[in-house]
Amino acid sequence: MAERMLQFVDTGREMPDKRSADERREDWGEIYAEYARAKAEEQSSRCSQCGVPFCQVHCPLHNNIPDWLKLTAEGRLEEAYAVSSATNNMPEICGRICPQDRLCEGNCVIEQSGHGTVTIGSIEKYITDTAWDEGWIKPIEPVAEREQSVGIIGGGPGGFAAAEQLRALGYQIHIYDRYDRMGGLLIYGIPNFKLEKHVVERRTKRLADSGIHLHTGVDVGRDVSLDELRDRHASILIATGVYRARDIKVPGVGLENVVPALDFLTSSNRKGLGDAVSDFDSGALNAEGKNVVVIGGGDTAMDCVRTAVRQGAKSVKCLYRRNRANMPGSQREVANAEEEGVEFVWQAAPQAFVGGDDNAVRAVRAVRMHLGIPDATGRQTPQVIEGSDFDLEADLVIKALGFDPEDLPEMFGSPDLRVTKWGTIRADHATKMTSLEGVFAAGDIVRGASLVVWAVRDGRDAAESMHWYMQQTADAARVAAE
Ligand SMILES: Cc1cc2nc3c(=O)[nH]c(=O)nc-3n(C[C@H](O)[C@H](O)[C@H](O)COP(=O)(O)OP(=O)(O)OC[C@H]3O[C@@H](n4cnc5c(N)ncnc54)[C@H](O)[C@@H]3O)c2cc1C
Ligand code: SF4
Repeated sequence: MAERMLQFVDTGREMPDKRSADERREDWGEIYAEYARAKAEEQSSRCSQCGVPFCQVHCPLHNNIPDWLKLTAEGRLEEAYAVSSATNNMPEICGRICPQDRLCEGNCVIEQSGHGTVTIGSIEKYITDTAWDEGWIKPIEPVAEREQSVGIIGGGPGGFAAAEQLRALGYQIHIYDRYDRMGGLLIYGIPNFKLEKHVVERRTKRLADSGIHLHTGVDVGRDVSLDELRDRHASILIATGVYRARDIKVPGVGLENVVPALDFLTSSNRKGLGDAVSDFDSGALNAEGKNVVVIGGGDTAMDCVRTAVRQGAKSVKCLYRRNRANMPGSQREVANAEEEGVEFVWQAAPQAFVGGDDNAVRAVRAVRMHLGIPDATGRQTPQVIEGSDFDLEADLVIKALGFDPEDLPEMFGSPDLRVTKWGTIRADHATKMTSLEGVFAAGDIVRGASLVVWAVRDGRDAAESMHWYMQQTADAARVAAE
């Protein structure tokens, strides 16, 4: 059947169809599976097994890409999954949302020679989605249980990766998160069209099924102190991410409908998860029928513009003070947004938000920017072109200017927790241990706003050090008791 339908897909020829809707749906599932498999095998067989795997070098997890491509090309998917999951705790998630153009795929030698990259990310996604469908992904069953317990603050990708690694070694794991769902930015930040939420939820369920204790709604610092957690557990991992949104200091920033990016994205994700979201229902965080202006040029800004398009906005503009070449966001995301009808207003910055009598925003007053001499980092400094003001009509303005860390020493009541001048946690580069003995840190809270794949890498590295640390402390306790 699948072969017959594949022909139909390829040629577009009509064929008589007397099946019920359910039967048709079933067939489409089969066709899609067959099509995806054919595509994955075809793409995998394009890998030249070049011997100098730049893709692997440029993947933060150093995934063994050539090997799982070869296995996929040979149709040995279960083995491909085993190789892929040996270095990555969430391959199907990275396959969906890594900026591959800057990582593995951007360094594929076939891409470099101008023939188009092997689509590594989609093959990685395909392998692990298949593993879920086939039931190859099982709860973690440690060979032996250990008494020592670990407290992980933050249930995002950094916390998840560390939890899995340590649970496999037999530790008793407790993850504390202040939200009502686990997943961090995977669940509430990244939009559903990039990362479907059932994909995150099945990962969370696997943790619970593996005996990992998930404590939602626990705000560390408010509900329990870091010191209390240190007394409770043999070691601690801080993987809290960065959540203090950068603001714009211009007149009118307090007007209604001038909103932070994460509020907008979270409400959209919550709505998609079936939650009642009053700010969405009232229209305050809903772009439908509105002229939307998003300010910023990173991946968060791209997620906002693309979400606004999907919500049925009347127009969507992205205002960015530098040019396209200097944008921090992925070029692939910019191209996607453009294809979907987003208009980019390059080299322009807001000077004020103009409101109506109802205190709601009506327009963004912007000014053109000129790119001046490069600063110490090599990036050209944007400078205002005097007298170049112009207005952009707006009923909803979304501020997507990036995130800084919260003040963790203050929040946790732990003044001895050392941070950098940017507020990120100062952790030993090799061991990931912070200035507090037995307290480790991973992910965005150490790096600043980064990527899921780096959080996974940090979580795995931290887990390795925590295991070593807990073995040492257990040995020391044994010797002291003898
Ligand atoms: C809108 C958006 C889109 C993005 N898109 C991509 C993308 O496409 N690809 C990509 O690779 N990366 C993307 N990123 C970046 C990526 O999501 C992060 O780098 C990654 O999630 C960091 O993981 P983490 O575990 O360090 O922190 P997080 O995912 O932020 O998780 C931290 C968790 O800690 C919890 N927490 C914080 N403080 C406390 C406390 N005091 N007590 C208890 N719990 C606490 C939070 O509730 C949260 O659940 C995006 C980021 C944003 C904001
Ligand atoms: S984890 Fe990301 S960078 Fe590494 S192979 Fe997968 S998609 Fe590429």
